[in-house]
Amino acid sequence: MSYNKKFMVKPGEKIHLDKIDPAYTDQHESHEKALPKIQEHVARMDKLQYLLYADGDQSLLVVLQALDAAGKDGVIRHLFSGMNPQGTSVFGFKQPSKEEAAHDFLWRAHQRTPGKGEIVIFNRSHYEDVLVVRVHKLAKKSVWSKRYDLINDFEKMLSSNGTRILKFFLHISPEEQLERFKQRLDDPARNWKITDADYSERELWPKYIAAYEDALEQTSTQHAPWYIIPANHKWFRNLAISEIIADTLDEMGLKLPPTHVDMEAIRNKYHIAEQKQAGKGNGQLDKNSKP
Ligand code: AMP
Ligand code: MG
Repeated sequence: MSYNKKFMVKPGEKIHLDKIDPAYTDQHESHEKALPKIQEHVARMDKLQYLLYADGDQSLLVVLQALDAAGKDGVIRHLFSGMNPQGTSVFGFKQPSKEEAAHDFLWRAHQRTPGKGEIVIFNRSHYEDVLVVRVHKLAKKSVWSKRYDLINDFEKMLSSNGTRILKFFLHISPEEQLERFKQRLDDPARNWKITDADYSERELWPKYIAAYEDALEQTSTQHAPWYIIPANHKWFRNLAISEIIADTLDEMGLKLPPTHVDMEAIRNKYHIAEQKQAGKGNGQLDKNSKP
């Protein structure tokens, strides 16, 4: 079964995250054994991104959400670094600025959605407004509880404008999170990732899980599905996400656009230029020659 089918949250499905194994690796035994497949998917993603850009008719929005240290940054680094920066961008959602907070919660997200031909990755997203905002009571229930419908409408509108939306929840266990916090302490190159909030947020784990379960249940739709990705093993996380993205781009029917020029006439111009160039032989165009 494809990972697209296997990990997709069906619209209306009830979610119990504690029943989903975050250490799942399918039939794959190790990173080494899975690596050729990951590389194959990433190469396919890169090729299809070129086509998406050339085609210029559709776009892709990838949403990454997770608890701390689940690997959102790692997904971006490992899977998207081969893509052409022209046509790909990442936007990280931090605490809203004063200007952002003065607007509706979708305002900042809408400004960053991909234009035709583009891929945009949301590192955190408008979903923070039903996650951290709910857990920390930054808005009243009467406010955040209306946001699921608003998000569904917003994503439907993006979808009808040619944007494919893929939303990934990276699912890790509390044990794995603690192990990664330890690595951040032990490895000086990772010290910078530690924040004061890491341990206080960890205390709120059950509240975050409840908020995630609601979001996954209420906002996984045909046009903007959620995927729950087992993410204790970084390589399996990368394998699953790269397959889903590559398969989705494949389904989009991308093609190189037809040329708008008279190819015969252009070929003739090329041959004339080639002959002139050969006559000069020094790699310089003659200043007096007419183009
Ligand atoms: P990081 O992703 O580690 O750079 O952290 C960004 C922080 O910004 C996280 O603690 C998020 O929960 C927080 N954040 C993102 N969006 C919002 C929001 N709408 N309201 C409050 N905090 C947010
Ligand atoms: Mg963080």
